Amino acid sequence: MNKTLEEILFMKFPNLYSRGLDFGFQCNDGWFLLLWHLSAKLEPLGVTVSQAKQKFGNLRVYLDYNKRPSADAYALIQGTEQSSKTTCEDCGQPGELSELYHWWATLCKPCYNMRKERRGHAHP
Ligand SMILES: [Zn+2]
Repeated sequence: MNKTLEEILFMKFPNLYSRGLDFGFQCNDGWFLLLWHLSAKLEPLGVTVSQAKQKFGNLRVYLDYNKRPSADAYALIQGTEQSSKTTCEDCGQPGELSELYHWWATLCKPCYNMRKERRGHAHP
């Protein structure tokens, strides 16, 4: 995710991201709004996030276990993971799980084609 969007999340939800993420937000900008809405709901619950990343085309968010996360927090995260299955990771438009060169990603058609084209140019 681009640094400006990351900074916005860090600044707006200082408690949720107080420990700093292990590797930053490891997903593309299309999921920013999903993370924004999830963060707004998690922040008041007193939990902290340790990792947020794309895995097998879904958005995965991991909480810091030291803070004893509630079942509510996990339910919110699961809901967001579900939403990520139909949201393009690159642009935020409706998307679907797609395979590209053995790599899974949830993408809309235009973004899928763009990735395919870029990859094609990089490896003729
Ligand atoms: Zn897209």
